[in-house]
Amino acid sequence: MSVGMKLQGKRALVTGSDSGIGQAIAIAFGREGAHVAVHYHSDKAGAEATAADLRARGRETAVLQSDLSNPENGEKLFEEAVKALGGIDILVNCAGTDVEGPDESVYVSLHEFHRVIHINLIAPWVLCQAAAKHMGDRGGGQGGPGGVILNITSVHEEIPSQGGAAYTAAKAGLRNITRNLAMELGSKGIRVNNIAPGFIATPMTREYLEDEQEMEKSRRAIPLGRPGRPDEVAQVAVFLASEDASYVTGSSYFVDGGMMQKLGGDA
Ligand code: NAD
Repeated sequence: MSVGMKLQGKRALVTGSDSGIGQAIAIAFGREGAHVAVHYHSDKAGAEATAADLRARGRETAVLQSDLSNPENGEKLFEEAVKALGGIDILVNCAGTDVEGPDESVYVSLHEFHRVIHINLIAPWVLCQAAAKHMGDRGGGQGGPGGVILNITSVHEEIPSQGGAAYTAAKAGLRNITRNLAMELGSKGIRVNNIAPGFIATPMTREYLEDEQEMEKSRRAIPLGRPGRPDEVAQVAVFLASEDASYVTGSSYFVDGGMMQKLGGDA
């Protein structure tokens, strides 16, 4: 056993860990001693790469496919993760999608609005429910084994985004689910927090990263002057999942290079 690991022996399910922020979180958890169930939607190779990294560190893992545009699939996904690792101590809801469609929200189809709400809000909710029941059933109350739920929202839990009414509604909703569950689950020793990333370099933001004009705009909008890296979000996830954050629940951690300080900018 390596001394000083922050998540030694913990078992985690990280949704969307085939790619971007979720992959960085799964790998960071593995580095800190956690066993991790890797979830993906369509990028099996990405999920296998995450799992290979975990195995190379001697961690247990499982690669689980689930389409969360049908949120009911979340329940089965959670059950599979429990079965694969023998229990779950940490749930990270990271899978998410952007709105695909016109730049003006009022022209976004209802079908697309539903898709975004299903993946970004209702599926995380179903997974929160499953996790809370699983962690709560283990008993222990305050100071007991409890557990950790971490929801990945966005700076758009607070600020608008052009064409993104569905996205901002979902992220604000997930922020409030986090607050509500923190209040309700504290007595069971379950801590619930969210991380609100700003502009992070991942496949989701590739289009912006490859557009010099957008990059120039971002450099001006972000006090630290650059997009963040997935591992910079993962470090905060490790903190929140670990005992270092034993008295932190209901909070939202902005990992945004200061973007929120320029509220009102067109992020
Ligand atoms: P990404 O494209 O690398 O990851 C998106 C993930 O969502 C993938 O792992 C994919 O498997 C999963 N996913 C997409 N559709 C799905 C579906 N139908 N069913 C199940 N899973 C599905 O992008 P990322 O930037 O790493 O995004 C991860 C999270 O971070 C998202 O919730 C996103 O909203 C949030 N976020 C990202 C940024 C950013 O700038 N990159 C900023 C704020 C918040």
